[in-house]
Order: sequence, then C-alpha cells, then structure tokens
Amino acid sequence: MIEPTGNRAIVIGGSLGGLFAGIMLRSIGWQVDIYERSAHDLDSRGGGVVLQPDVVEAFQRTGLEAQALSVVAHERHYLNSDGSIAQSMPMRQMLTSWNLLYGSMRRHFPAQHYHAGKRLNGIQQTSHQVRATFTDGTQTTAELLIGADGPNSTVRHQFLPDVHYQYAGYVAYRGLVNEAELELEAASLFTERFVFYQFPNSHILQYLIPGEGESLKPGHRRFNWVWYVNYDQATELPHILTDKHGKKRDYSIPPGLLALDVEQEMRSYADTVLAPPFQKLVAATQEPFVQAILDLGVPQMAFGRVALMGDAAFIPRPHTAASTAKAAANAIALAEALVKHNHNISKALKSWEPLQIAYGNQLLTSGQQMGDSSQFSYGAGREGEKLDTLLKRKVTGCQQVDGS
Ligand SMILES: Cc1cc2nc3c(=O)[nH]c(=O)nc-3n(C[C@H](O)[C@H](O)[C@H](O)COP(=O)(O)OP(=O)(O)OC[C@H]3O[C@@H](n4cnc5c(N)ncnc54)[C@H](O)[C@@H]3O)c2cc1C
Repeated sequence: MIEPTGNRAIVIGGSLGGLFAGIMLRSIGWQVDIYERSAHDLDSRGGGVVLQPDVVEAFQRTGLEAQALSVVAHERHYLNSDGSIAQSMPMRQMLTSWNLLYGSMRRHFPAQHYHAGKRLNGIQQTSHQVRATFTDGTQTTAELLIGADGPNSTVRHQFLPDVHYQYAGYVAYRGLVNEAELELEAASLFTERFVFYQFPNSHILQYLIPGEGESLKPGHRRFNWVWYVNYDQATELPHILTDKHGKKRDYSIPPGLLALDVEQEMRSYADTVLAPPFQKLVAATQEPFVQAILDLGVPQMAFGRVALMGDAAFIPRPHTAASTAKAAANAIALAEALVKHNHNISKALKSWEPLQIAYGNQLLTSGQQMGDSSQFSYGAGREGEKLDTLLKRKVTGCQQVDGS
C-alpha cells in the first residue's frame, strides 16, 4: 500500500512518456491526472520498440507485469543484395510493440484520472502551484506539471519558444506484417532474428514483435520493418508528408493514410533496391506508414514547477533504439529525486535536470553519428538508385548501424 503524499501532478500528453510519468509518480504516493488532446485511444499508432532495461525497470517498480513483454531475437543477420547472409552474429535482444507498452500502462493507470480530448492551451505558475488551462476553457491546478506532449510540445513552446526540432534529411517508412501472412522462406529467415540490409545511403531492418491482442504466441506475432530513405526537405518531403486526403502533416503519416502515389513510389522503389526477402516483406505490408526523422534537444528541462520529458525535450534518432527508454528513465529519475528530497519540487528538479540533459544530449549525438554515417556517406541523395554502379566500383563503405 502506497502512502499518499497529498501532492498532485498534472501530466500533459497521454502517450508513452506521459504514462511513464503517471505510473512512476503514483508509485511514490502522488495523485496524478493525465491530459491527452486526442479524444480516442492512441493504440494502433506504433510499431516495434526495442525493449530496454529502463522500461522493464519502470514496469517492475510500479507493479506492472514485466515477464511477458517481448519476443526474443537470438542473432543478427546482415544480408547481401541477393538476400544471402553476409554476416551473422549472436546477439540477444528483447523486442516489443508500442501497442503492448501503451495498453499495459493504460490498464494500470486509473481511467478516471486519464482525461482524453483535453488540449493544453497555456500554463501559469505561482510559488505555490501551477495552473493548466485547456482549449475548452477549463483549468486545473497542482504542485507539479509534466510536459510529456511530444515533438510539437505546447509546454516547451511556452518556456523555450525558439527551440524547434530539425528534419534530419531522411524518413522512416515502416510496416507490420502478420506472421502468418509472409511467404515461408522469408518468414523463416526473419523469425526471432534482427535482420538488416544496408546499401549506399540507406538501410532497412526487421524484427518480430507481439501481434494482435499483444500476442506473443508463435504464428500470431508480427514482423516489424523500418526503412530509412533520404528526401530533400524543400523539394520532396512536403509530398511525402501529405496524406491521402491532401492534408499536410508535420512529421508523420499514420497507417492507412499514406497518399496512394507515395505508397506506390515506395513500393516500386523497394522492388528496385531492396534485397529479395525485404522486397517480400514490404510487398506483404497492408498499411505502410512514414515518420520523418527529427533532431531535437533542449538546454533546459525544468522551469519552476514544470518539467519537460520524453520527446518534448529530446528526440534522438531511432538508431539509438532509446526514445521510449529515455522517457521511462526521465520518469524513474524524477520519482527518485522527489523521494530523495522529501517531495520538495524545486530541490528535486534541480538535482534531476542536469543528468537528464546530459543523457538526452548523449543520445542525440550518438544517434546523429549513426544516422549520418548510414544515410549520407555518399552525399544527401538516394544512392540506392545507383546501387549497381556503386557496387561495381566495389564501394561498400556502409558501417553497421545499431538500429530500431
Ligand atoms: C505516431 C507515433 C508512433 C510511434 N511509434 C513508435 C514506435 O513504434 N517505436 C518507438 O520506439 N517509438 C515510437 N514512437 C515514439 C515513442 O512513442 C516516443 O518516443 C515515446 O512515446 C516518448 O514520446 P512521448 O510520449 O514523449 O511523445 P509522443 O509519443 O509524441 O506523445 C505526445 C502526446 O502528447 C499529446 N499532446 C501533444 N500536444 C498536446 C497538448 N497541447 N495537450 C494535450 N496533449 C497533447 C499528443 O497527442 C501525444 O499523444 C511513436 C510516436 C508517435 C507520435
């Protein structure tokens, strides 16, 4: 039984970052209310997530089931362009899905304290409390406010109006394929393995994740793939980020909404440049989706009674496989700091902030190094189009990327 401290927190954003903050603060006796602008459940948004120790730690500390979270991959394969195995190495990795993490935390967090359809408009604070005002005109107050409201954070915009994310020069096409819906030869190559195909200025990877209904049962899981492709920000990206209804989106198009011509171009490009097993994987994908790769880092994460967390503060490139784990780490560290400082917010935030900024910057830099060496070793273009020529010249300088 957790002793209530009488402290209240407002969390803005009800995705993984907000839920980690919510469950961790509740675990130390805080009353937490999460406010999410989307009126609907967010599940079905995401694909695979490499399960890192900080996520398991947050689940364990808050009494969430942490045993059956992931599919295990036992080795890595790097493929040649004909689909044969160029290199293989033993490497154990635990792989889960965005939906499983989201669903587990939503079930654990009390429904009456998760407020959907509430969009933050602004924040005011005094020495005693912080007040959030929503676009529907309602207000709420608490002792602490967490901004876990993602890349376009309203909270960050209020305190750091000049800090914006930057487009990294490439996007991730992504997709999911039910285990039973992939042709047998490709399926047996991919099952329980982390498989990469790297070629000049691009790479694609896949791993198996939990399936429909969070199933871990063989035959009921999903292949998850991520393919990094370079697009020029001014002349090409706006086309990719316009959905099938003609709506321009900031940085991602969800499953089912890719414009038909973008999807068609991606599929025929896949047939031209990918190794055959990955061609089959892309072809078997019903609703591919796309996310622009972004870089974001902040110089400050605490502002009086307000703290920024997760993607609102730092967006490392996905090659670090660390975005979700970083959101968990931010929340674990904040709960520890509050306990250590007897729930004194200003002391706790002061001790919490420097390490979170250092961690964010470290991930930002290492992700940029990995991504740039994979995507831009031959300039900024899509050199896959000249793959045959490059291979004939025996230019094979892609470095191995870590990847998510
Ligand atoms: C569409 C999508 C798919 C993703 N898929 C994966 C994946 O497969 N694997 C992976 O590792 N990571 C994935 N991520 C990223 C991963 O979810 C994040 O790294 C992790 O959740 C931490 O991000 P976050 O919760 O801080 O921000 P986000 O996930 O961006 O969530 C921010 C939340 O804040 C809400 N919000 C924004 N503004 C306001 C406002 N003014 N008022 C109230 N609410 C607001 C948004 O609606 C959103 O739900 C995905 C993110 C998105 C958005």
